Amino acid sequence: MSILVLNSGSSSLKFKLFDIASLKEIASGRAERIGMTEGTLVYYNGRNKTVINKDFPTHELALEEALSLFTDSQVGVMDSIRQISAVGHRVLHGADRFSESVLINENVVAAIEDCIPLGPLHNPANLMGITACMDELPCVPQVAVFDTAFHASIPDYAHTYPIPHELTKKYHIRKYGFHGTSHRYAALAAAQMCEDESLRLICCHLGNGSSVAAISAGRCIDTSMGLTPLDGLEMGTRSGSIDPSVIQYLCKAENLSLDEFLNILNTKSGLLGVSGVSSDYRHTEAAADGGNERALLALSIFNYRVRTTIGAYAAALGGVDGIIFTGGIGENSHRCRSAVLGGLEYLGAQLDEKLNEQPSSEKRFIQSASSKVKIMVIPADEELMIALDTFELTKDLITKR
Ligand code: ADP
Repeated sequence: MSILVLNSGSSSLKFKLFDIASLKEIASGRAERIGMTEGTLVYYNGRNKTVINKDFPTHELALEEALSLFTDSQVGVMDSIRQISAVGHRVLHGADRFSESVLINENVVAAIEDCIPLGPLHNPANLMGITACMDELPCVPQVAVFDTAFHASIPDYAHTYPIPHELTKKYHIRKYGFHGTSHRYAALAAAQMCEDESLRLICCHLGNGSSVAAISAGRCIDTSMGLTPLDGLEMGTRSGSIDPSVIQYLCKAENLSLDEFLNILNTKSGLLGVSGVSSDYRHTEAAADGGNERALLALSIFNYRVRTTIGAYAAALGGVDGIIFTGGIGENSHRCRSAVLGGLEYLGAQLDEKLNEQPSSEKRFIQSASSKVKIMVIPADEELMIALDTFELTKDLITKR
């Protein structure tokens, strides 16, 4: 029996199939350009990659293609799609409606729809994945796993913006935070690695989107993203935190509408905007190495913001026992980790530069023997976390089927 995990974007559908007994991945893939021309679907069955070039007008048709590959006589991994016992969906915004993963029913679908104003790009796409499954796998239980849910435990003084409180209440304004599934997975893995569930952890998820979370004994107490993923750190194309007055000033100076300026903050800022080279950390590093000063500044801002957020969260936690690096940059860039941690020795965090520079795709410790703080690299695995939640919420239904 298996669990299918889906992450559907507006024009893409990522999927991973897990064996229930071992929770090992047995197949994965990604359909791109759904609803457009020149669609593709890449499928991997653990041995071979299959590429299908075909247009997928809807998410449902992309899912249908993936399901037929699962049972294909050449590249398949199961005899019948009846072996799929449950489906877990990544859902971006659960607002204040969901503080944990839930079994999907009509009310849950309606509540995810209600959250669309807060996640206008992602929630409709996530719903397309859910609807496609309802059509293609009608009797299979489905679970929604929210990016925001892990942050529901953040105390009011940390999640409330200091604006007139009537507005906060009327419009459900708060710091919701994102990457919750990744932070939760990393915190669980760190507790296992350290054999201690009571740790004060600071988790840095550094990728195209980046956020830091402060976690005390497995519960999140603060995070750097806000009402939307625009807040906090400098990111690939997002600015992170800026003084809101900059928006008013530049809208007037450049004769831009608020929507136009928000689009600049979301898609033309961050590493890309500062460097003028790329939103990609590696490319920005290469440009900085070649002497490009704007690229160097972009990286310095990135590393400085991560470092100062770690400092703030050490204060929030009353000390820190472990710092985690995850996400494409956090897992792969030893230079980023070294730059972020340089200057944090006062917290008791000391890198072992040799361990830090050793390439590996495994979970690992990279602190020196004398470091008081454990420093860990933990490859992100949001899909496994979604599969685990899906199994937990459906195991009684599965045994009855
Ligand atoms: P997303 O947030 O879209 O899931 P990822 O977590 O895959 O993104 O992270 C993508 C980022 O990771 C890019 O900026 C990329 O440059 C960076 N990255 C990947 N590998 C390396 C590497 N070896 N060194 C530096 N940065 C890397």
